Amino acid sequence: METLCKANKKELSPYKSINDHIDSLEKYAKESTKLLLNSVCSVLELKLKKAHPDGPLIFGGKIIYNPRTGKPIKNKEWDRLEEAIRKFLKIEKKQVVKRASKDSYWLGSILKRMSLEKRKKTPLSSIDLSKPDFAAVGFKDYDQDLINVSERLSGIYIQGVNDKTRNKLQSIIAEGTKQKKYPHQVFQDLWDQEEDINRDWDRVTRTESAYNINNGYLITTLRTSDEEHVFMKGLSAPGACPYCNRMIKDQIVVLLSEPPKTGETVVIKGKKYIAIWPGKSNYGRNPKNYWTVNPMHPYCRCNWTEWYLELEKYLKGE
Ligand SMILES: [Zn+2]
Repeated sequence: METLCKANKKELSPYKSINDHIDSLEKYAKESTKLLLNSVCSVLELKLKKAHPDGPLIFGGKIIYNPRTGKPIKNKEWDRLEEAIRKFLKIEKKQVVKRASKDSYWLGSILKRMSLEKRKKTPLSSIDLSKPDFAAVGFKDYDQDLINVSERLSGIYIQGVNDKTRNKLQSIIAEGTKQKKYPHQVFQDLWDQEEDINRDWDRVTRTESAYNINNGYLITTLRTSDEEHVFMKGLSAPGACPYCNRMIKDQIVVLLSEPPKTGETVVIKGKKYIAIWPGKSNYGRNPKNYWTVNPMHPYCRCNWTEWYLELEKYLKGE
């Protein structure tokens, strides 16, 4: 999802804890990349700068990378290195998936149950995400299934980043061996990947977290509301892109627990409304027929807030 909006480059949400959550996940992923590259370099005895002091233990022993003196990596060592990279990425995956999916749902749910003022200011450090109790908030089996499938989906996307990372590192080492590159060149080639890997991490963690926070927020809205029809109003950041200004900002939509059979819209009391529901996404859709979905673009900082039609009448002075 490209960013069309230049405003608010740093903040993804008007709510402090969401920014904290996404920042800390990105930081974690970036540190993992650094740790992985450092460990691969140190196990291959590739050095240019000081090695990271706390390389993971799974990288045991040294592998001699010295193709120029006729000592290329042996097959056995090669397998060991591959296995170590795989193991390392698997451990990271578990952490990232949990934070991008279940933790994000729970954060969305907690935020929904706070006042708007509190929601804006409360930092993540004051929120406990460790013991989610979705059933206590009224989540149904149907909602729990959505959390489970979201978790699986985050896992698939994150596995994609991991596979790409592993392939990249392996091909650099193999190419280096094949081309008889000097160790410092291979070292450089490996570190040149850092930015690319982090960009992949960012894209996935940011999108997945934001979607799942929104889903947790919407489900909680549905399950805690007494209204017959739950209406919501779209909010966007000042300077949001034309799409978000047109499709989300100030839109009154109706929140349903399932997609309507009629497509994206429903008629309520003779009036047509765009419907939103937990899990609604533009995945697989062409930008030309995008649905009204939050988040559309991370930096447009779009949000839904509950809206009462009676209030509308009152404001109009009817
Ligand atoms: Zn936008």
